[in-house]
Amino acid sequence: MAAISRLTKPSSLSSFPRLWRSITTTTTTAQSPPSTLSRRSDLSSRSTQWVFLGCPGVGKGTYASRLSKLLGVPHIATGDLVRHELSSSGPLSTQLADIVNKGQLVSDEIIISLLSKRLEVGETKGESGFILDGFPRTIRQAEILEGVTDIGLVVNLRLPEQALIEKCLGRRVCNQCGKNFNVATIDIKGENGKPGISMAPLSPPAQCASKMITRADDTEEVVKERLRVYSEMSQPLEEFYRSRGKLLEFDLPGGIPESWPKLLEVLNLDEQEEKLTATA
Ligand SMILES: [Zn+2]
Repeated sequence: MAAISRLTKPSSLSSFPRLWRSITTTTTTAQSPPSTLSRRSDLSSRSTQWVFLGCPGVGKGTYASRLSKLLGVPHIATGDLVRHELSSSGPLSTQLADIVNKGQLVSDEIIISLLSKRLEVGETKGESGFILDGFPRTIRQAEILEGVTDIGLVVNLRLPEQALIEKCLGRRVCNQCGKNFNVATIDIKGENGKPGISMAPLSPPAQCASKMITRADDTEEVVKERLRVYSEMSQPLEEFYRSRGKLLEFDLPGGIPESWPKLLEVLNLDEQEEKLTATA
């Protein structure tokens, strides 16, 4: 615990490199970007240093990944960082393997160290930003992150609980090819001025249809508990970013076909997608 409390003190925050300062300064003060920037990074020159929040099952990874492709910045999921380190001979791989084998949680210190390293590599490669997925999860992690980099925007993806439960219960995976599908047809009526939500199922092709399996932990009880735990943990974090004027709440209006154009619209990226599509 000693190490943990030490990290939360502002004095120790300065020990994390402020990796993205130069980039943020360039973009937020509207100086001209360096002429070496390609057209693609030009799109993202508005400081894409974003965090995606959202409860399990909301589709956070999907939207973060789509946006990262559109903006030409990496989609950094902390789960991937851990898996990557484990499969490498990096300095933390032995320690990590030990933690994971014992079924323990990977500490904030290790995650932030992997993340710092990843951002540093990105900076040397000339990446113009990032979209973080899966980090931070707590205020403490958000405070540490503030010491490492400047986050410009936090997108909080939301769906009503009923839709989330139905969506999670509809998840299926093909036990042959490993692809994910969803058999739920969600059709929630709008009420009290709130619009309804409908999401079409993601049906498997014929060759997978007979091989669908349900994850053992996708039961209503487990899903509800997962959502309860998430909401308890995320509310203070959302407030942390709300108080800094960085939180963008986005109520998903439906599945990807309905939500993607709306999301681009609120992020002022709809024209950029048209440009990109036109020149692709
Ligand atoms: Zn299959």
